[in-house]
Amino acid sequence: MTDIIIVGAGPAGLTAAIYAQRAGRKAVVFEASVYGGQIVNTPEIENYPAIKKISGYEFAQTLYEQAKDLGAEIKMERVVGIKDGGSVKTVVTDKGEYECRAVILATGAKNRPLGLENEKALIGKGVSYCATCDGMFFRGKTVAVAGGGNTAVEDAFFLSNYCEKVYLIHRRDEFRAHEREVEKLRAKENVEFVLNKNVTALREDGGRLCAVEVTDKNTNEKQELSVAGLFVAIGQSPDNTAFENVASLADGGYIKAGEDCLTGTDGIFTAGDCRTKAVRQLTTAASDGAAAALAASGYIDSMDI
Ligand code: NAP
Repeated sequence: MTDIIIVGAGPAGLTAAIYAQRAGRKAVVFEASVYGGQIVNTPEIENYPAIKKISGYEFAQTLYEQAKDLGAEIKMERVVGIKDGGSVKTVVTDKGEYECRAVILATGAKNRPLGLENEKALIGKGVSYCATCDGMFFRGKTVAVAGGGNTAVEDAFFLSNYCEKVYLIHRRDEFRAHEREVEKLRAKENVEFVLNKNVTALREDGGRLCAVEVTDKNTNEKQELSVAGLFVAIGQSPDNTAFENVASLADGGYIKAGEDCLTGTDGIFTAGDCRTKAVRQLTTAASDGAAAALAASGYIDSMDI
C-alpha cells in the first residue's frame, strides 16, 4: 500500500511529493494531463525566491525530475473519486483503484472560459487559453488578450514580442496584475489597451476567428476589432466535485482548508490553488505542498502509535 497519494502534479503536488519522500514516505502522484500544471503556460517566472528568471516549462521539468529522483512515482491517470475507508483510502482512477493511507488533493484550477456562444467551437481556430503554447501560430498577426490579471498582462507582453499588434481587453481600468508588469506592457508600442470593455461576441470567417466584438461597460457602445487570435486569460476555476464526499467545498468550488492544509476529514489533505486561500502564487503552492506532506506524514505517524 502507498503511504500518500497526491492528486495533481502541479507545483503544489510535486512539492508535496518531494517533502513526502524526504520524510520517508512512499508518494505516488496522479496527473490527468501534463505535469507542472498551469505554470507550464507561463513564459517567464521572475518572482520565485532565489531564481531570477526561469521559463515555466523548465521550472516544471526540474520540479518533476526532482520529485522522481527522490523516488516519487508519477502516474498519468485521471482520479475520478476517493473511497474513504478510515485508515485505508482507495483512490479510483480511470484505469484502476489504489490503496493508500493518506491523500493530498492538489488539483489546481482550470482556465475559465468567457462563456460566449461559439467560443468552444473556435478553440484551436483562433481562440486559445495558452499564449505560450499557441502564440507562435500568430507571428506577425494581430491578436487580442482578454483579462486584467497577471496572466493576461504577461501573455500580452509575450505576444507583443512577435505579433504585429496586441489588444489587451479588460473589463475595468484597473488591473489585478502587478503594477510593474502593467508598466512594462504600457511601454510596448504595438500594444493597445482596450479598457472598460467586455468581449461580447466572436466573429468567424470560414470557421476561424476573424474579429471580436467588444462592448463598453459604461456606454454600451459596441466596437469590432479584427484579430486572428483571442487569448482568454480571465482566471481559473477549480474542479473538485469528484471529491465532495471527502472534502467540503466553498462557494466557487474551492476545497475549504486553511494554511494547515487540513480538510476536516482524517487523512485527506489539500494543497495549492484548489483550496480556499487569499494568494494563489507559485510560492504559496510550493508552501502548501510542504505543509500538506508534513501533515500527512504526521497523520500516518499518529496512526502507527
Ligand atoms: P486573476 O488574477 O484571477 O485575474 C483574472 C482577470 O480576468 C481579472 O482581471 C478579472 O477582472 C478578469 N475576469 C474574470 N472573469 C471575467 C469575465 N467573465 N469577463 C472578463 N474578464 C474577467 O487570474 P490570473 O491572471 O489567471 O492569475 C491567477 C493567479 O495566478 C493570480 O493569483 C495571479 O497573481 C497568479 N499569477 C501570478 C503570476 C506571476 O506572479 N508571475 C503569473 C500568472 C498568474 P476583474 O479584475 O475585473 O475581476
